Amino acid sequence: MATILVTGGAGFIGSHLVDRLWRDGATVRVLDDLSSGLLENLSGPREFERERFRFTLGSVTDRDALDEAAAGCDWIFHLAAVVGVRRVVEEPVEAQRNLLHGTEAVLECARRNGCGVLLASSSEVYGKGLRIPFHEDDDLRLGSPAHARWGYGAAKAMGEFLAKSYADTYDVPVIVTRFFNTVGPRQNGRFGMVVPRFVRQALGGAPITVYGDGAQQRCFTDVRDTVECLVRLWQCPEAIGEIVNIGNDREITILDLARRVLGACDSDSEIRCVAYDQVFPAGFEDVRRRVPDVTRLEQLTGYRPARDLDETLGWIVADARARLDRAASVTGSRA
Ligand code: UDP
Repeated sequence: MATILVTGGAGFIGSHLVDRLWRDGATVRVLDDLSSGLLENLSGPREFERERFRFTLGSVTDRDALDEAAAGCDWIFHLAAVVGVRRVVEEPVEAQRNLLHGTEAVLECARRNGCGVLLASSSEVYGKGLRIPFHEDDDLRLGSPAHARWGYGAAKAMGEFLAKSYADTYDVPVIVTRFFNTVGPRQNGRFGMVVPRFVRQALGGAPITVYGDGAQQRCFTDVRDTVECLVRLWQCPEAIGEIVNIGNDREITILDLARRVLGACDSDSEIRCVAYDQVFPAGFEDVRRRVPDVTRLEQLTGYRPARDLDETLGWIVADARARLDRAASVTGSRA
């Protein structure tokens, strides 16, 4: 079985991927600086078999930490990244440096150590794409650099260019994946992600804050589907050198999402529309629609993410409730 390094393996998608690879019998290494990830997300592999699991605390921009973590690995799944539109808008320098330098360092490390790289990119690279659904070969239509938001998509796109250059120049095997609004337990609402925010608000009886008119649409992808696609792509030789969308292509408005979260939480919180300029700097532009074309994904993997959103929301809400209960019992036992 393979030895795999997952950068950002303590984070939301990374830790679900680690669980899966580890359950499948792989030897898994994790490099994470815990800037947004949590060690408790790795409690399964850490607890049960130390032989097949090792955690390195460090940044992907640190060459020594990367080399230590990647030693003996066949592939690197590069998921470490600053996440969340809010974080990118609030800390643009840190976000862009982390994305650009992190990806470059990982590709260099792969070249030195002779490993392949599966690069986690983002549907943000499509920017304000007009042709729905978004196909991997579409031109990218990012907004002006005057608005920090587009720096995230631009940095992710630059990472894709760099990956292609390393593949062409140094024969590093590379697969690029573009994620579409992945959701599931362990996702954190601190950096703006809509589903964990709505769930927290609904369970706490607070108003659900829908930005703008709520008519903007997204396709939410269950993290179990995302992980299934990542593993299948990695196992598919034809995926090397390809850019591949990973997403569920069923669309929903944010207003409808708010209603479904209320239903899943059995909550009677009020839905409140909030103007963008109350939450973001002036001139902030949201993406109105973002739908993946999954033809290539399905051709390569034989899999199409289609898990029902209500089922995913039920899973997320059950997990959030269990966390609240645990936190309450800790507080209770201290009192
Ligand atoms: N959103 C919202 N309320 C929130 C957080 C986000 O209405 O508390 C909206 C946001 O404006 C966007 C959508 O939900 O239209 C998805 O936002 P998220 O940050 O999760 O992902 P992205 O914008 O990258 O798709």
